Amino acid sequence: MIRFEHVTKKYRGTKKPAISDVDFEVQRGEFVFLVGASGSGKSSCLRLILREDTPSDGRVVVLGRDLHTLSTRKVPYFRRNIGAVFQDFRLLPNKTVFQNVAFTLQVTGASRGFIQQAVPEALTLVGLDGKQKRLPHELSGGEQQRVAIARAIVNRPQILLADEPTGNLDPATSVDIMQLLARINEGGTTVVMATHEAGFVDQMKRRVIELRDGVMMRDDRRGGYGDTSAIPRLAPQEEKGAAATAALSAVLELQREIAASPVEPVPSAVKDAAAEAVSASAVAAAVAVTPEVAPAVAADITEPPESPPQSPTHADGRPPTRPIRIDAPIVQLDGLELDDLTVAERLGLASDEDEVGPTS
Ligand code: ADP
Ligand code: MG
Repeated sequence: MIRFEHVTKKYRGTKKPAISDVDFEVQRGEFVFLVGASGSGKSSCLRLILREDTPSDGRVVVLGRDLHTLSTRKVPYFRRNIGAVFQDFRLLPNKTVFQNVAFTLQVTGASRGFIQQAVPEALTLVGLDGKQKRLPHELSGGEQQRVAIARAIVNRPQILLADEPTGNLDPATSVDIMQLLARINEGGTTVVMATHEAGFVDQMKRRVIELRDGVMMRDDRRGGYGDTSAIPRLAPQEEKGAAATAALSAVLELQREIAASPVEPVPSAVKDAAAEAVSASAVAAAVAVTPEVAPAVAADITEPPESPPQSPTHADGRPPTRPIRIDAPIVQLDGLELDDLTVAERLGLASDEDEVGPTS
């Protein structure tokens, strides 16, 4: 699903590569933590996955696409399959919650009917019912990150990248966001998360790839954070203990369920590091936050699909999520039966929807 083949990235004007000979593969449906000190190369990896940057050496293959051979005009199509969230949320300050989530869909040419249905569903999924008309500054940090997550998943990407998504949030709120990401992963979305939150990494026991000075130090199938002496440790605050503990328990229970089911094995040949996570402006990417990107995206909408659809399957027997074709014009969504294609269903979360937030 995401493959780094001996990838080195050296930025212009720098002496040392930001990442050196990084080699790993992430399988469909995995949840991968990318850990390492500030400057270790996590965000650089995520930018490469989003094709916001290209390697100086080596190859990055995402969703079967060698990103080196992906033409610039096809990048917007490619990015529709990848959602991304960031530490600083990156919401459009003068747009409402609804407009922030709808913006990506509008830019990619989705029909009004689809937008009117998909956006509220995504907001329900992240627990933001009733806040559609708020502006970002009228929301708490956790709520702003939920808007960003709704925006990242509204188009049902196959991959969700998260670059230190809890970095600006208090511990209890971070737990909520973590729980939401775990649930999205449970629905079949591959998640790659860069983080400093050793507590989450240790508790979730998912795959951990560690970078140090751009070099992959470790790729543990069910790892912990490792040496945490250099980072502040995340622990639920005493006074917020009840909610945080309950939420953490839910995360852990969920992870136990996932762990109990057979997991796609990571071939030993590719047992390397995994992903990095999110970075870059998935927003600018998938969502084309910059207005000048919009015309290019719009121009691409009429282009016919060029590659066969991905066919997601889950080794553990979960029902396959419906694929988004890499180059499929978004306008094809108009033909879908929206009643059969709620955001929750597309994420495989429909039956648990009310655990994430109130349903309408
Ligand atoms: P992390 O996300 O783990 O903090 P980054 O990927 O942001 O690490 O950075 C890795 C290294 O690359 C750092 O030394 C950083 O200064 C450098 N770097 C990142 N982006 C650029 C850039 N656009 N130009 C030059 N150097 C960069
Ligand atoms: Mg970073």
